[in-house]
Amino acid sequence: MTQESACPDSYYGYEMGPIRPPSEADSLLIRVTRNCAWNRCTFCPVYKGSSFSIRPLEHVLRDIDLIYKNMKCLREAFNEPSSVTEPGLKAIANTVSADGLVAFNAAFYWFMNGMKSVFLQDSDALASQPSNLIELLRHLKERFPWVERVTSYSRSSTLVRIADEDLEAMRDAGLNRIHVGLESGSDKVLKMVKKGASKEMHIRAGLKVKNAGIELSEYAMPGLGGTELSAEHALETADALNQIDPDFIRLRTLAVTDRAPLGAERMSRRFHVCSDIMIVNEIKTLIQNLHGIKSVVKSDHVLNLFGDLEGKMPQDRDAMLEILDAFLGMEPAKQDLYRIGRRLGVFSGLKDLMDTNRVFRVEQICLANDIRGENMDSVIDRLLQSFI
Ligand code: SF4
Repeated sequence: MTQESACPDSYYGYEMGPIRPPSEADSLLIRVTRNCAWNRCTFCPVYKGSSFSIRPLEHVLRDIDLIYKNMKCLREAFNEPSSVTEPGLKAIANTVSADGLVAFNAAFYWFMNGMKSVFLQDSDALASQPSNLIELLRHLKERFPWVERVTSYSRSSTLVRIADEDLEAMRDAGLNRIHVGLESGSDKVLKMVKKGASKEMHIRAGLKVKNAGIELSEYAMPGLGGTELSAEHALETADALNQIDPDFIRLRTLAVTDRAPLGAERMSRRFHVCSDIMIVNEIKTLIQNLHGIKSVVKSDHVLNLFGDLEGKMPQDRDAMLEILDAFLGMEPAKQDLYRIGRRLGVFSGLKDLMDTNRVFRVEQICLANDIRGENMDSVIDRLLQSFI
């Protein structure tokens, strides 16, 4: 039985949800809501079968206090991460009760990673009562005044309903970045994948966040239009992003899993997955069509083919396009070598093809596992499924 399924109104100690954005890997996770209130996006397996709830404010405050208590112990014992010793750590851990270990581990992980940022879980902390969110943000600030960044996921449909004054009050209380799953700017694609938002709503929500003085990170999902809507997906996404000019455009390439409804659509051939080559062309169209914005493009998701496809618009546009063109200009066998090497975690960018040790490792893995041109796509598909 999970913590939330036992009885959502009872307190079972510090809670941690299943995911956070890759850029929040070092953040302290504070669970404000559980799961997803919408939960209908056909590509998303994360919360399927789980019901949404907003955790009582008192529980979230207790979580923050538990982390604070553990953090205080750790700071008194070690002062800084480099002073941590195994015997010293064991001595403290031995004083922690079994039901306090999750909070202790979270506090220790955060301590070792610099304690600079906090991420509010799960899929939409802003679905909480604004006054509750503001109170917990203030409490976070009081407990951890040194924190530089507090961030959350939110949905465009939630953001457009929040009063501007409430968003500004959240900013004043410490919320300084919101991650939104734009996924696409195409209404056809958004409708097809049941995103529960239109292009116009995404734009309105994005501008609202920016006007409130909160940093905005928009996730775009290459491949989401399938083969039929690939070009429209790229062009309309670029147009939506041009109108929003978010601080960050984060790429998170589609991977289809059988744990999400899109898996069944693929099986029944109602959705046709784009090849890597199509996706690279799609990203190229997207980047070529970004105009008049100063966003930073990030590629910090393991599902992306190029981990180094990053830069600030507009000055880094050509460098990003060079990476894509370099890949598209390669012989198919070399493209395959890179594709599989990236998904095996050996390559992070095309420059790694110059590293003979890495190339040798990928070739050896392919030989040992009989990975060839003919079965490459299915092996890559299985690897991608294991990432989500
Ligand atoms: S993508 Fe986001 S909004 Fe859609 S179901 Fe998943 S968590 Fe919910």
